[in-house]
This record gives sequence, C-alpha cells and structure tokens, in this order.
Amino acid sequence: YAERFGGQLVLVTGAASGIGRATAFAFAEAGARLVAVDRDAEGAARTAEMARLIGAPEAWGEVADVSDEQAMEKLAAKVADEYGVVDVLVNNAGIGLSGSFFDTTTEEWKKVLDVNLWGVIHGCRVFGAQMAERGQGGHIVNTASAAAFQPSRALPAYSTSKAAVLMLSECLRAELAGQGIGVTAICPGIVNTNITATARFAGAGDEEQTRRQKKASRMYGLRNYPPEKVADAILRAVLRNQAVVPVTPEAHGVRFMSR
Ligand code: NAD
Repeated sequence: YAERFGGQLVLVTGAASGIGRATAFAFAEAGARLVAVDRDAEGAARTAEMARLIGAPEAWGEVADVSDEQAMEKLAAKVADEYGVVDVLVNNAGIGLSGSFFDTTTEEWKKVLDVNLWGVIHGCRVFGAQMAERGQGGHIVNTASAAAFQPSRALPAYSTSKAAVLMLSECLRAELAGQGIGVTAICPGIVNTNITATARFAGAGDEEQTRRQKKASRMYGLRNYPPEKVADAILRAVLRNQAVVPVTPEAHGVRFMSR
C-alpha cells in the first residue's frame, strides 16, 4: 500500500498493542500521518515513535480512555486543533470478558459495554462529526468480532458488545453514505494478541483467573493468526469501502452460515 494513504490523517484507538498497533504500523508504511491512542500512554508513544521510523511523515501518541466521553471530546478537540481533521478513524480499543451469563456480574457487563460499545459510539460521534462537517468524506473502521455473529455460551457479554458494534456500523454506514463517509465492521476470529492476557473470566477467583488466562493465551498462540493480517484487511476495506469484513478462516465460516 506504498503511499496509498500519503497525506491522510489516521487515528487508531487501542494502538499500543495487538491489532491496533499492527494497523497503526500498516498505515504508517502506507505514508499516513498517524495518531496512536491508548489508555496506556507509554505504549501509545512507543507505537508513534516506531510509526515514524517505518514511514509515517508525522505520528503522535495520545492517551485516552475510549469509554470516557469527556476524555474523547477533549481528544477530538486537541486532534482537530493540532493535527487536523481525521480522514480514517479506527475504533479498535476493546477488552475481553468470558464467563456464562449467570456468572457475569453487573459491574462486568457494564465494563465490557463501556469500553467495547460506548468506546466506539464516542469515537464515531466526536470524530465522525468533524468528518461530516468538513464535507470531504472519510472512513470509519470499527473492530467488531466473529463473536458478533456467532452465539456462544462462553462469551455472552463480549459477543453482545460486538454484535452491537456490528449493527451500529451498518446503521452508521447507511446514515453517512450520502456524505462520502464509509463505515466498515472488521470481524476477526482468533488472533494472536495480548487480549487473552488481560481478559477477565467472570466467576473465576484470582488463581483460577490466571490459570484460565494462561490457557487461553496458549490456545490463541497455537492458532497463531498474526494481527498484521487483520491490519492488512483493514487497509483493504478502507480502499474498497467494504461494509462487513470477516477475517481468519473461522470468521469466514460463521459469517457464511449466519447470513
Ligand atoms: P490487545 O489487548 O492486544 O490490544 C487492545 C488495546 O486496547 C490495548 O493496548 C489496551 O491498552 C487498549 N485499550 C483497552 N481498553 C481501552 C480503553 N478503555 N481506552 C483506550 N484503550 C484501551 O487486544 P487485540 O486483540 O489487539 O484487540 C483489539 C480489538 O480487536 C478489540 O476490540 C478486540 O475485541 C478485537 N478482537 C480481537 C480478537 C482476538 O482474537 N485477538 C478477535 C476479534 C476481535
């Protein structure tokens, strides 16, 4: 994608790790100016530094919690003031949560919906409004998941959050089409990232928590699907203006069966 995004401003959330970091690097290689956002300030700064080394003419690390509406409004104002209007927005920050419906507490439900759904809503609202107001089009990518179209008794809260992101993306795509703003829902299956190391397991005690995280990390490692391939799918989806993009073989499978 050499220079395909030259001159464009791309903002990626959850850019300190995994799919977000790989996506930031892919846009950097394609010549984009980059804003790497994460709740992990050091990680965001590291991604920005690396992005400059691999081809971004300019890159900045910014710290924000995507679930915090005021923080996102502040971020959007700063980005518009200092770097410009975002051409491509990637709402990618997300957290994992496993456990049956009855094991999942209200607090855990709220946390996963706050980050995975509200984080995307805030991002679309604050940066989408700037794109629409500018009137020169743009693109929004939301990281949903294969879990959005595959019911699972192990992931009720996570899957619900991702199904909501998928539908939100399709509704917003319809609303923004007339303004030349594309919206994509990216739906990966199992990708080898840090998400398993930080995911919570509802109903598990501390020791059990660690044991389950290690087991999940091993399983994700064995599948060994690299985040760079998801990043590739994201850049392709923006260039082709694709609506819903399953990534990984199992995601293609469930997508085919469900629709
Ligand atoms: P990851 O844990 O490697 O990266 C997630 C990043 O998001 C981290 O840097 C983390 O600090 C950041 N983050 C988390 N909560 C945040 C918040 N409130 N505000 C700002 N930043 C926050 O995980 P990943 O696998 O790269 O996940 C990226 C996205 O991909 C998530 O939305 C996830 O649900 C989705 N996804 C992952 C997989 C997979 O198998 N890894 C599959 C489908 C979808």
